Amino acid sequence: MINNIPNFLYHLLIEQYGENLTNTILEGYSQKRPVTLRANTLKADITDIKNIFDKLQISYKEVSWYKDALILENTSEDQIKNLEIYQNGEIYLQSLSSMIPPLVISPKENENILDMAAAPGSKTTQMLALSQNKAFITACEKNKIRAERLQYNLNKQGANRVNVMIKDARQLDDFFSFDKVLLDAPCSGSGTISIFDKKLESTFTEDLVNRSSKVQHDLLKKAITLLKPGHEMVYSTCSILAKENENILRKFIDFKQLEILPIDVSIFSDAILLPTSIEGTLCIGPSDLYEGFFVAALRKL
Ligand code: SAM
Repeated sequence: MINNIPNFLYHLLIEQYGENLTNTILEGYSQKRPVTLRANTLKADITDIKNIFDKLQISYKEVSWYKDALILENTSEDQIKNLEIYQNGEIYLQSLSSMIPPLVISPKENENILDMAAAPGSKTTQMLALSQNKAFITACEKNKIRAERLQYNLNKQGANRVNVMIKDARQLDDFFSFDKVLLDAPCSGSGTISIFDKKLESTFTEDLVNRSSKVQHDLLKKAITLLKPGHEMVYSTCSILAKENENILRKFIDFKQLEILPIDVSIFSDAILLPTSIEGTLCIGPSDLYEGFFVAALRKL
């Protein structure tokens, strides 16, 4: 271990980001982030949610780029989970970074959207809320137990225009075609690790990164097949490694299967923006507010 993270990860970070940014990332790995949430607009209004927190004397900050999100200040996840507004699905606890891909994909009424790796459904439910329950989403999840959690969250959030498929998305029939695809890919989680995790050395391995890259490549290939030509998709991971992000996208961009739709990264002014090797993509570094996260918006050519 170097600086409490596995040696190979340290070397990958140094190679990709250099020493100064690697130190910033290590600092981010040692932070405890506040509870963050979004109002589930299928059931509640953000003004009512704020009023409830005011009455409970739970203070909060707003999020400049998302009016439905809040950063809570003097509370814990356990306390929030005891509240009625949590138990009846009026609020959904979600990291700020994870709220970005649905905003980028911007789901609209009657669009047929594939959420390729969907459980536990944070982004499925957010996409439905953003479309006022008017998009139609196919939510695919390979793991049966996680798919049950996804279905539970959909029910609790009142997100009902969803078809859940328990299936390896790589095996989806090529006969399908979608207006939009969200590929929130399974990844190593290199953006979310904590240096206080005692099991890190045994769980965060080089093999995990390599296996993740392989699955990401195969899922992206399938996503392109299933997306209508000229239509848009979003690729995201909670990894900050080029091996799982830019390197996965590059081949498809070079072969003119996809083009980048630039994301306006300037709106994330309170985040650490890491450099990426593909202009127009967003890579947020781990910090006291954000998990490390990568997002790219793409169009099928
Ligand atoms: N999008 C989810 C959300 O916002 O709540 C988080 C998705 S998580 C990063 C990745 C998910 O992909 C996991 O639930 C994992 O079980 C699932 N998964 C992994 N490989 C898959 C595959 N080949 N096909 C479909 N789902 C897969």
